Amino acid sequence: MLCPACTHEATKVLDSRLSEQDNTVRRRRECEKCGFRFSTREETEILNVTVIKRDGRHEAYSREKLSNGIYKALEKRPVTNQEMRILISNIERDMYRLNRTEIKASQIGDLAMKHLKKLDKIAYIRFASVYREFKDVHTFYDELHKLIGKRRKKINYKKKSSSKKLNKRKTYAFKPKSKPAAKRNNGKHSKGKS
Ligand SMILES: [Zn+2]
Repeated sequence: MLCPACTHEATKVLDSRLSEQDNTVRRRRECEKCGFRFSTREETEILNVTVIKRDGRHEAYSREKLSNGIYKALEKRPVTNQEMRILISNIERDMYRLNRTEIKASQIGDLAMKHLKKLDKIAYIRFASVYREFKDVHTFYDELHKLIGKRRKKINYKKKSSSKKLNKRKTYAFKPKSKPAAKRNNGKHSKGKS
């Protein structure tokens, strides 16, 4: 590890902490020559996994490639960088547990979808639409339906009796449309006060 101040090669580790959340190790270091202090974050990298692509080609696993797909799916979603890192490290942990030197790209895609689904439903649908290459609106709708269907089953199970409430919940599921209305309400409030 080169010192960022004087590029001297020998640095002393002052303190080392493992973050169990995202499998990174944070080390505080001090340059042995100039005394400059800095810290590093070290991530484990999977090196010995070969990905078999859909067309049969083999290529070395790349975290960057996986991350790019995940970042695109999570663009403008309310998810922190830390949550993204944890997501990727969870996917890799599952890959690692498969204990294989060759993994199909589709398996990695499935793992990514499994974890994205838990983190953010919209990102999950985005990722699925690229990864599963929805050919038309119908396949896209099927996937959406599976998601919504599962949620409805849960509600049905809880409240079998009231179908009215169930209808209400249905409209809540598409709430984003009501956001501008909420803003307008705020405006009214301030007008009322003045
Ligand atoms: Zn130095």
